[in-house]
Amino acid sequence: MTKYVFVTGGVVSGLGKGITASSLALLLKSRGYKVFMQKFDPYINVDPGTMSPFQHGEVFVTADGSETDLDLGHYERFIDEELNYTSNITTGKIYSSVIEKERKGDYLGATVQIVPHVTNEIKNKVYQAGITSNADIVITEIGGTIGDIESLAFIEALRQIRNEQGKENTFFVHTTLVPFIYGSDELKTKPTQHSVIELRSLGIQPDMIVTRSPIDLDDHLKGKIALYCSIPKENIIDSVDVKNIYQIPINYYNQKADEIILKQFGMKVSKANLKEWENLIQVTDNLDKEIEIALVGKYVELHDAYLSVAESLRHAGYKYNTKIKINWIDSEKLEGDVNLNKVFKNTKGIIVPGGFGERGIEGMIKAINYARENNVPFLGICLGMQLAVIEFARNVCGIASANSREFDSMCPEPIIDLMEQQKNIINMGGTLRLGNYDCKIKKGTLAYSDYRSENIKERHRHRYEFNNKYKDLLEEKGLVFSGINEASDLVEIVELPNKKHFIACQFHPEFKSRPTKCHPLFDSFIKNSIK
Ligand code: GLN
Repeated sequence: MTKYVFVTGGVVSGLGKGITASSLALLLKSRGYKVFMQKFDPYINVDPGTMSPFQHGEVFVTADGSETDLDLGHYERFIDEELNYTSNITTGKIYSSVIEKERKGDYLGATVQIVPHVTNEIKNKVYQAGITSNADIVITEIGGTIGDIESLAFIEALRQIRNEQGKENTFFVHTTLVPFIYGSDELKTKPTQHSVIELRSLGIQPDMIVTRSPIDLDDHLKGKIALYCSIPKENIIDSVDVKNIYQIPINYYNQKADEIILKQFGMKVSKANLKEWENLIQVTDNLDKEIEIALVGKYVELHDAYLSVAESLRHAGYKYNTKIKINWIDSEKLEGDVNLNKVFKNTKGIIVPGGFGERGIEGMIKAINYARENNVPFLGICLGMQLAVIEFARNVCGIASANSREFDSMCPEPIIDLMEQQKNIINMGGTLRLGNYDCKIKKGTLAYSDYRSENIKERHRHRYEFNNKYKDLLEEKGLVFSGINEASDLVEIVELPNKKHFIACQFHPEFKSRPTKCHPLFDSFIKNSIK
């Protein structure tokens, strides 16, 4: 039978609830248990796919093609398990399905209400995650902060789950902030106390409190929280600020956080296998080289918009003992009369990641042109691949008006065009080409030497594609189409031989990189950038 851990947050948002949930999951997995993870986002969008990256940060895509919250990226990177559509539930999803059921007549006769209809729907999502994953433990993080109007129905559903399943099958972790007040130079527990009062007023007594603070809490402070919040002192876990998020699971392990959970569940506490993770921290704490990689994008003010890309660069850096210094370059700023030699003076590699819409496109094309002409290692992802092809068509094949239909619907030379299947689509949400698709790799290419396999699967999120009408011409001029989706004849990878490193893919490799297992495309990009 599956056991359920719920992670809520109090006082402020941005405490690192996602990292807390991931760290606990990693520890439970290291004890030999099968763990699955889930996030509740109380906003009304059905998924984050329609939100601006500036609002929401990156949209993380799972293998089954769900567009999800970026916390799922942390989950997958920490527990190295593929998540799916049951892993990110929003108010929008819950209400859509309740309303659909009402229209079908499923509730015939009833007045449809938050309790029990909406809360039942939420509870079903928790139980469904347990059933479909067949996990020993499901960890569910609840987005937002306790006290938010939006999350009330979710919290009520969790209260009911505790009531149905009992304390031996459910565990509540509440993460809070313990601020340090300068002047009096002390930590303050009052916000934590108040947030637990708020949680209790919704019927939930936490089993563990994770306190985020700049320094460790002393015994006296823990005693105070224990007294006011009615939990044992040892169930207060210090989550002190760290430079390296991968340190957090070890910090929790040292405080026996996972043991406390397993004991409440009456589950065996076998020896934790954290070797790989401990090695990782050894590496990440002792990087002895540093290189600068330029990330040329259109949402660079918010680094979270490129969270998985940045993580993937770092992961590859770990493999080569190298710290990756990302130079975040706003592509729009490259558009005027700019001295690119100066901009890329210290750059060892250029990456152009994904994006949507016309703004900043010409700046990215300039950066790609610079990389190609100056033989600077280049990796293009999704939009980055589309623009690499446009740049090549314009400047090598002489097709001056080459463009994507996304930026110019009347474009005479649509090197990148709307996919056939996309032409009659009206709804924007959930209709991109999403999730895993096969890619066949051509032998003797850089892609092949990276993957060492002819058949791979990668995750996608795009609406436009390379226009095969131009394939022969571009090939003649030297572009190699090294990865193809055979079923639909879509271009997946292009590259330029005789360059130090020039490759671009239509999919998003960043979703599959792990800290202990970097992705092959990032691996070779960083390797060749260091050379
Ligand atoms: N905007 C492009 C498309 O829809 C690229 C998408 C992306 O980079 N994720 O095809």
